[in-house]
Formats: sequence, C-alpha cells, structure tokens
Amino acid sequence: MRSISSPAVMQRLALKQKRAGVPVGLVPTMGYLHAGHRSLVEEARRRVGASGWVVLSLYVNPTQFAPTEDLSKYPRDLKRDLAMCREAGVDAVFMPSDAVMYPGREEGRYSTYVVEESLTRPMEGASRPTHFRGVTTVVAKLFNIVLPEVAVFGAKDWQQAAVISRMNRDMNFPVRIVVAPTVREPDGLAMSSRNKYLDPTQRLQATVLWESLKSARAEVKRNGTVDAAALHARLSAIISARSEARLDYLEFFDPETLQPVVEVTKGVQMALAVFVGKTRLIDNGRL
Ligand code: AMP
Repeated sequence: MRSISSPAVMQRLALKQKRAGVPVGLVPTMGYLHAGHRSLVEEARRRVGASGWVVLSLYVNPTQFAPTEDLSKYPRDLKRDLAMCREAGVDAVFMPSDAVMYPGREEGRYSTYVVEESLTRPMEGASRPTHFRGVTTVVAKLFNIVLPEVAVFGAKDWQQAAVISRMNRDMNFPVRIVVAPTVREPDGLAMSSRNKYLDPTQRLQATVLWESLKSARAEVKRNGTVDAAALHARLSAIISARSEARLDYLEFFDPETLQPVVEVTKGVQMALAVFVGKTRLIDNGRL
C-alpha cells in the first residue's frame, strides 16, 4: 500500500493507472476509520475488481467546518487508519496537508470554490451554511487529483451524496457515484467518527435517532399515509424525552427533489440531526 501526500504525485500515479487500463476507485474520508468506511472500500473493490486500484483519501477538510465547529478536535489516529486501510486491501492512501490542498488560503490567496445551489439549501445546508461549499470543493479537487472511474459515498450522509451526485452531473465529471448503505452498531446507532465524543449516558441516548426512524417506518406501515406535522410532533416528543438530546431538524421529503412533503407515505425520505450533549449526530432513511 502506498501513502501519498502530494497532489501532483497522486495525479501522476492515477494517470499512469488510467493509461494502463487499470480502473481507479476512490473512497473519500476524513479518517478515524470505522466499519462504515470499510464497507465503502469493499464496495469500491467490487466496482474496480481485483486488479483495479482503490484509493482512500484521508483528509480533514477545513473548508467544510465553520469556525464554531469541531475542526481542531476532530478525532485523528493515523497509525490505526493506515493499519485498517492495509487490512481492507486499499492500494493507495492519499493524505494531503492543508498547505497543498489550499495553497495560500490563510493569506487569502486561495479563491476557487465549487457551489451547488439547490440541494444544499435545506437540512444540513440550513444548519451549517458554509458546509457543502467545502464538501463540493474538496470532492471536485479529489476527482481531479485521483481521476477515479468510480467514487463511493455513504448513505449515512444522504444529502451529501445527493449534492455530490448533482455536482458530478452538472460539472460533467467522468465519475460514477455509488452510494453504499449505512453501517450501524448492534443497537442501531449509525457508525460515525463523532460517536467517540459521547459519554456513556449520551451513548445510550444516541439510539434515539434510529428509534425515531423505526417509529416513523412503523407508523407509515400501519397507516399508509401519515400527516407530516403530526408525525414530526410525535417524534420530537420521543427525542426531547431523552435528557441529553436536542433536536436540530427533522424533515420528511421527496428523495429526488429534497422538497418537504405534507403527507408522509412509503418512499418518502426522512432525515434528522440531533445534538446529544454537544455532539451533533445525523441519520436518515427511506420510509
Ligand atoms: P467521513 O469520514 O465521516 O467524512 O465519511 C466518509 C465517507 O464515509 C462518507 O461518504 C460517509 O457517508 C461514509 N460513512 C460514514 N459513516 C458511515 C456509515 N456508518 N455507514 C456507511 N458509510 C458511512
């Protein structure tokens, strides 16, 4: 397995693979890897085949964090991440520094960003107004550096995957976007690097996101059509009954347009963000 930190070297190697007819698969991550990331590597391997080249990028992208967010304390463990990549059969880890990804940014000399202007508006985009600009920018850069045929993202960050798919189409990147299912802990909590922030009480209460999703699914199954406002109120009550939990948003929407629906039926997408203590957790699913 190769570890590469220079974008120029990465691009040169990727070009070499491409010219040799070797398909390249990319799994973008911010590190502190867990079984969710691992499943994306496995999906990338399935897509490019045994002789393909699977690249995992490991980069805590500063432009997707607001100044008030957890950039400086985002968990990191490079040694463990590299061991996990090796074990998962990753061929190359791309781990650039901020200085090479955003040359001159601190001094105002980095000035090009990629912005998606529709799907980024609600939910994560409303709660974190500068977040998606950072995500689309770094993913566009990674596509240009790693030159993948296929890039794998997790359904855990469902809106992110939708935004990236839209950017990919709108900007004519020659990349196939694959969205892999959310990997969960045995009690249903979606795996996340941020779960590490939770103390034992918070960890127990963090299952409320999954319980809300299951409860919504059960209601839709039972009643066929459910009033969105009434369901919102019932799930909000379930969430606020946990002492450590505070709802950020909970939305029912059309999975194509991301427009909110008034009536919740089978096939509607639900997404929510909940603060558990100071940690902001997200989850989503199809009802
Ligand atoms: P992150 O390192 O949190 O930025 O995530 C990198 C990629 O892994 C993104 O495409 C995420 O959607 C995906 N991912 C994170 N957690 C999970 C999970 N529990 N199951 C599946 N994919 C995940």
